Amino acid sequence: MKLSELQTGEKAVIVRVHGHGSFRKRLIEMGFIQGKEVTVVLNAPLKDPIEYEIIGYKISLRREEAEQIDVVNEAEAREALVSDEHLQGLPEDLGERERLDRALAHLAEERNHVIRVALVGNPNCGKTSLFNIASGAHEHVGNYSGVTVDAKEGHFHHQGYEITLVDLPGTYSLSAYSPEELYVRKNLVDAMPDVVVNVVDASNIERNLYLTTQVIDMNLRTVVALNMYDELQHKGDKLDTEQLGRLLGMPVCPTVSRDGRGIPELFDTVIKVYEHSDPTLARHIHINHGVEIEKSIVRLRDLIFENEEVRSKYSTRYLAIKYLEGDRDIEKVIAKFPNREALEAARKEETERIEALLHTSPEAAIVDAKYAFIQGALAETYEKYQEEKPRRTITDRIDAIVTNKWLAFPIFLLLLWFTFWATFTIGQYPMDWIDWLVGKFGAFVGAFMKEGWLKDLIVDGIIAGVGSVLVFLPNIMILYLFISLMEDSGYMARAAFIVDKLMHRIGLHGKSFIPMVMGFGCNVPAIMATRSIESRKSRLITIAIIPFMSCAGRLPIFVLFAGAFFPHNAATALLGIYLLGVVLAILSAKALQHFVKDDDLPFVMELPPYRVPTGKAIWRHTWEKGKQYLEKMATTILLFSIVLWFLSYFPRNAEQGAGAPRLQLEDGCGPARRRGRQGTGGQHPGRDVRRGRGRRGR
Ligand code: GDP
Ligand code: MG
Repeated sequence: MKLSELQTGEKAVIVRVHGHGSFRKRLIEMGFIQGKEVTVVLNAPLKDPIEYEIIGYKISLRREEAEQIDVVNEAEAREALVSDEHLQGLPEDLGERERLDRALAHLAEERNHVIRVALVGNPNCGKTSLFNIASGAHEHVGNYSGVTVDAKEGHFHHQGYEITLVDLPGTYSLSAYSPEELYVRKNLVDAMPDVVVNVVDASNIERNLYLTTQVIDMNLRTVVALNMYDELQHKGDKLDTEQLGRLLGMPVCPTVSRDGRGIPELFDTVIKVYEHSDPTLARHIHINHGVEIEKSIVRLRDLIFENEEVRSKYSTRYLAIKYLEGDRDIEKVIAKFPNREALEAARKEETERIEALLHTSPEAAIVDAKYAFIQGALAETYEKYQEEKPRRTITDRIDAIVTNKWLAFPIFLLLLWFTFWATFTIGQYPMDWIDWLVGKFGAFVGAFMKEGWLKDLIVDGIIAGVGSVLVFLPNIMILYLFISLMEDSGYMARAAFIVDKLMHRIGLHGKSFIPMVMGFGCNVPAIMATRSIESRKSRLITIAIIPFMSCAGRLPIFVLFAGAFFPHNAATALLGIYLLGVVLAILSAKALQHFVKDDDLPFVMELPPYRVPTGKAIWRHTWEKGKQYLEKMATTILLFSIVLWFLSYFPRNAEQGAGAPRLQLEDGCGPARRRGRQGTGGQHPGRDVRRGRGRRGR
């Protein structure tokens, strides 16, 4: 719990101190250190400050400051005395007070050994791979940007510490342009990770370090994971990681998160940084933005510094830089300050001064200075392998074909067509087997049961109902297998690139395309994937039209309709329904264009190098989707099968008689499955409906 939550007179032991630079240092100097006892002298509700006693001194802290300190109190210690195995071994002859003190100390020590680590980095730099390999999780890895859309938590033990690892969405910077950037920033400020691991793609180091420079501004305890180190070595480049670490003021650990090399060492370093056990590892540096900009930063910072309550949460230098850049989110923070008018006036003056002197906006000048810092650091540490004549990489060669003016579209369409062909045509075989198995299983179970409503419920309601949905499992797995293959190889990013121009015509972006294709599998992850679209307009329109993409769950209904109404052209009708959805999506997008405000944000579409997808990752994604589907079947679908069966079965006519066969069998296939639920919607319960390929709908 937090120190601020303690009542007057309560005693507690300190677990850790969060918060920032000088604020944190001051607290630690005052004696707020792990393991120290603190007593509340006076904590009146709504009253600020709160008075504490620590190592014999009386100290008052503001409420915001006390919120930054984690403690354990006596109530928690009492509970632990009963439940914690460690504490049960305490000698019997100890007094009550002594036992409690030991429990307090033990709990504080134990909680101090829990470290919260947040992963930040550019999209596609390998954060999720690192997250998975360290925590044993199975999150989605993909070779294009925007795969991870929210924070995922994983837990593992390392060197006696429990580490909570948080995987965050990828961002190129920490400005306030995209929802992802805001999300990551909010997470870093509010969730207060103890250590930040900044994952840097070593094969693309210059651009990746831009984010690092912003993390430096935020003044958080950070370790750099120099990931994809294998690719850097493979190219023959050399990097002095130790020297780079010294220049950045944070340790740099080479890692290969694809196979786990360097990961244990990375977390060893994380622990060292957390424990401050090696002061040479981390130090706070300031990136020099040039004399003029620095003058402005210092002026704004001094004004911000007057507002004590933000100092615990933010680095004031970071706030000053962001405010000078014109960051809208930080403007909101500043707007709450009593001296906001002075700040606003100061910023206006400084902006004008810089524009007059440097002929550019402060924002642009700050970006330039950061890149200059990176170039300087790399010039000292990085040595590119010199080739006689530039070699064409495999990626270049593949791209020459798949993004070729004439070939791009045919290849793309061919791949899409193949995906759907495999999904539905190859998928037909396992589908038929499952269909057959379900039928046999129903008949088998039915043979053992007495005629009556219970038998009808189990055979017609449950087995047939769940079975009719189970048959689509192969379709879903095959579709996701292809989507994963395209994502992990890097082709999906090209697909977005190829369709970019077309998508622009309906007011969307190339990036909208991937979520739309995913929509054919399931609309929910598809809509979640739209988060990676930077432009708000494209994002909103994409979200609105995705439901027109026919998801796999609708297939059973389409199949039923196609079979019932177009028995001779079921396949064409099915294709027609799918196409109709796409056409409606396009028309809606065009119409919606006029209603959503424009925010034309230019942004780069990144084309990652092609990578051979790992079999493990592909299997994981495919299985993940299959599992979700199966879970739904065991819960929602099972429940509704019963409800639907119930609705169609009751009330019973007297002459029908409970348990009597209610329909005429027309052919010999799966008698059990041909009875029952289709009768809903006003039809007589006994009437059969012809279905395409002998399968029933939901
Ligand atoms: P994220 O977007 O940062 O979460 O990145 P992912 O974990 O999804 O990985 C992006 C791609 O890079 C995937 O295809 C991974 O297999 C690949 N990858 C991740 N780490 C490494 C690495 O250390 N070396 C190499 N060669 N590839 C990697
Ligand atoms: Mg990810």
